[in-house]
Amino acid sequence: MRPTVMGTYPGLVLPRVPGHEVVGRIEALGSGVSKWKIGQRVGVGFFGGEDGVCELCRRGDIVNCQNPVIPGVTGDGGYAEVMIAEARGIAYSNHCGGGRSTTRSHGGLGEVRRRALR
Ligand SMILES: [Zn+2]
Repeated sequence: MRPTVMGTYPGLVLPRVPGHEVVGRIEALGSGVSKWKIGQRVGVGFFGGEDGVCELCRRGDIVNCQNPVIPGVTGDGGYAEVMIAEARGIAYSNHCGGGRSTTRSHGGLGEVRRRALR
């Protein structure tokens, strides 16, 4: 049922912290991040970013990227206290209550601190 939690997701290499579709607050920004601000509430979906260089990305079909960023699969996910997320893979979120998660960004990447959302 939960392939990233159970470790059965195809291609998943363990150890890996599971958890996709993460919501948190930006705690810090990397030098290359200008779109986001500290304190903004954001989410990272299952599709957490594209490589931008594969054939499909070059054709503009980033949703079908051959090397997508998938939190909990290609990188550690939101079950961790802190998660690194691609800044390009996060979206503004204001519909989830709580506000107990924190997101940081480092040079185009972000960390999502998960405390209560999962
Ligand atoms: Zn791609």
